[in-house]
Amino acid sequence: MTSKITLQHSFAARARIAGRIRLTPLIGSPLLSARTDSDISLKLEQTQITGSFKLRGATNAILSLTDAERAMGVVGVSTGNHGRGLAYAAAQAGVRCIICMSELVPQNKVEGIKSYGAEVRIVGRSQDDAQLEVDRLVAEGMVMLPPFDHPNIIAGQSTVALEMLEQAPDMDTVLVPLSGGGLISGVAIVMKAVNPNIRVIGISMERGAAMYESLQAGKPILVEEQETLADSLGGGIGLDNAYTFEMTKNLVDDIVLVSEAEIAEAICHAYWQERQIIEGSGSVGIAALLAGKIDAPGRCVSLISGQNIDMALHKRLIDRENFDVATETNATGGPDA
Ligand SMILES: *Cc1c(COP(=O)(O)O)cnc(C)c1O
Repeated sequence: MTSKITLQHSFAARARIAGRIRLTPLIGSPLLSARTDSDISLKLEQTQITGSFKLRGATNAILSLTDAERAMGVVGVSTGNHGRGLAYAAAQAGVRCIICMSELVPQNKVEGIKSYGAEVRIVGRSQDDAQLEVDRLVAEGMVMLPPFDHPNIIAGQSTVALEMLEQAPDMDTVLVPLSGGGLISGVAIVMKAVNPNIRVIGISMERGAAMYESLQAGKPILVEEQETLADSLGGGIGLDNAYTFEMTKNLVDDIVLVSEAEIAEAICHAYWQERQIIEGSGSVGIAALLAGKIDAPGRCVSLISGQNIDMALHKRLIDRENFDVATETNATGGPDA
């Protein structure tokens, strides 16, 4: 039995993190609306502090620690958006944070995590070596905060949905980038509690859609990780998944997959038409809309989840310079949660 996460937890999370995260804008997109003959808005969560919504869950989880846990500090392995959020949230709360990573992590990622105030511990030559160090620190009493499969992380992510309901009270459809499912589980709890008719649609990339494949299989399965422009959506959902698999299965209406070419097109659209710099993972809702893969969107909000793209890659994409979607990936390194 897993404890049930409810709308009440969402409101509690919002009160807890108030003043520590940014309330992000929601803007109409006349161009996407015309293209789809619908009413499309974009929730600009890529303008969140640290560049993604992950700060919401990390802040809520850190502020929910007991005094004894706070004194020991938190530890993680993510070098991507979760790592950034955790590092920043911990520094703000005066809590020690160690991010463990292998020697193979590129220097810009190491610097990124350090710049938000975390200690970086470089161990071994693989993610598994880094995980061993995390296990050791947890045995000593530090708290491991995972990127998605945790009630306080899910409740923190859900606060973005409360904001969206206030900004677009009459929405019919919400498009949510989907990887491990912490974000969409949080969004879906709120939407379905308020109005079960609001359609919640998850969007993943075709290459290595772990939640989609697991739902097809009827249980969490291992899915081979592949290079993708949506690198923040890479990685598995955990074979011992305790929350997000069931929540996604029970609350999410549909999952749509997008190709690398569609993601590249969406990043270009966001830049040239909407004047927004967004990462591949943040662009998948726009990608699905542009590709005509969302049936009757109606009043639709597409959640833009992050902006942390390698800027040299972004420049090549928007200039459409020698860009080969078959081989190109976000050059900042391997997939992250
Ligand atoms: C982590 C992340 C996601 C996916 O969130 P999950 O909770 O793992 O489904 C989407 N977009 C960005 C930018 C992310 O960093």
